[in-house]
Amino acid sequence: MQEGLERVVIIGSGPAGWAAAIYAARANLHPLVFEGAVIEENRVKGTLPLGQLALTTEVENYPGFPEGRLDEYLNAAIDKDRRKYMPPHSGPGVSGPELMELMRQQAVNFGTRVTTDDVIEVNFRQHPFELKLLGGQKIQSLAVIVATGARANYLGLESEERFKNRGVSACAVCDGALPRFRKKPLVVVGGGDTAMEEAGYLSKFASTVYLVHRRDQFRASKIMADRTLANKNVSVKWNSRVDEVLGNDKDGVTGVRLRSTTDEKKTEELDAAGYFAAIGHTPNTDFLGGQLELTEKSYIKWTTAARTYTSVEGVFAAGDVADDYYRQAITAAGSGCMAALDAERWLASKGFE
Ligand SMILES: Cc1cc2nc3c(=O)[nH]c(=O)nc-3n(C[C@H](O)[C@H](O)[C@H](O)COP(=O)(O)OP(=O)(O)OC[C@H]3O[C@@H](n4cnc5c(N)ncnc54)[C@H](O)[C@@H]3O)c2cc1C
Repeated sequence: MQEGLERVVIIGSGPAGWAAAIYAARANLHPLVFEGAVIEENRVKGTLPLGQLALTTEVENYPGFPEGRLDEYLNAAIDKDRRKYMPPHSGPGVSGPELMELMRQQAVNFGTRVTTDDVIEVNFRQHPFELKLLGGQKIQSLAVIVATGARANYLGLESEERFKNRGVSACAVCDGALPRFRKKPLVVVGGGDTAMEEAGYLSKFASTVYLVHRRDQFRASKIMADRTLANKNVSVKWNSRVDEVLGNDKDGVTGVRLRSTTDEKKTEELDAAGYFAAIGHTPNTDFLGGQLELTEKSYIKWTTAARTYTSVEGVFAAGDVADDYYRQAITAAGSGCMAALDAERWLASKGFE
């Protein structure tokens, strides 16, 4: 191998990126992961290293982590230099940041190299591919796995930020079953298919789901909208927007204040234990500069069924950056594994060692 030329570069540091790294490292491909830069812009966007799962508290649905204390295991498994910056384990199961540190550590244990920087530009028109980093460096690689994920959209209220993980969420499947939300009134914001799905899912746990929508009809498909309107546990607040998420330090979210979109002076307060933003996700694909084929929602298009191939041969995509449907840690990790196997087989088929 020519010096400075990588076999596989993985861009992204969520479950997809680390799963790809574990498989690529164990296949002797010596992967290099760009995990993202620790900068204010990434903090605000929610794209700091370790991905979306690092933004949440309990993770109750990732297989392998039933309820139990993990203190000793975390101390033994994670590099001391990183463990000392993590908050103490609070149980009863694994937290998002703990799970992500474990994944990163597992990849490093098998020889993965990690650079804490953003890839800001790619050149997939030449081979070897070229990647440019925020720090100015340029890297060449024979294969690239894009696992840069997506970020949940919020309304941008200060009060949303204040109560994140204390009643504010953007994922009903992830958080809906938590004890704090059970048999309590909950608020969902949005009017598209995602909002209908989130409201339907939460209606199984909540006493009532208030679905807040700023217009007088949904954007969602008719079938989804009809199902929602027929759900007795969902109460729609038409022509309304959330002005503020209400709460306190002890209880977290306690309600929301709505403002009418037809009469600015009209407000209403609702009691609620949770607030779910369901106004879509933004995939982290800007840095690709249009060089991979994207879907109409700007997700990377997988070009072959049951494969992680993209429109450029030798470039693979894994996780939420290509999947706007399942959006779970386990599915992201699964497609990360697939991308590493696809990359390994592609490199072999081209005769690269
Ligand atoms: C609040 C919340 C709670 C959740 N709870 C759960 C849960 O309980 N269970 C569950 O299964 N799922 C949960 N999810 C969903 C889950 O987190 C995602 O499905 C999963 O993290 C997607 O993994 P990913 O590897 O595709 O990418 P992400 O986790 O999105 O990570 C990608 C990361 O790559 C890095 N990156 C991005 N661009 C670049 C670049 N240009 N250069 C270098 N690095 C870059 C960033 O650090 C980015 O965050 C939750 C999501 C949220 C938002």
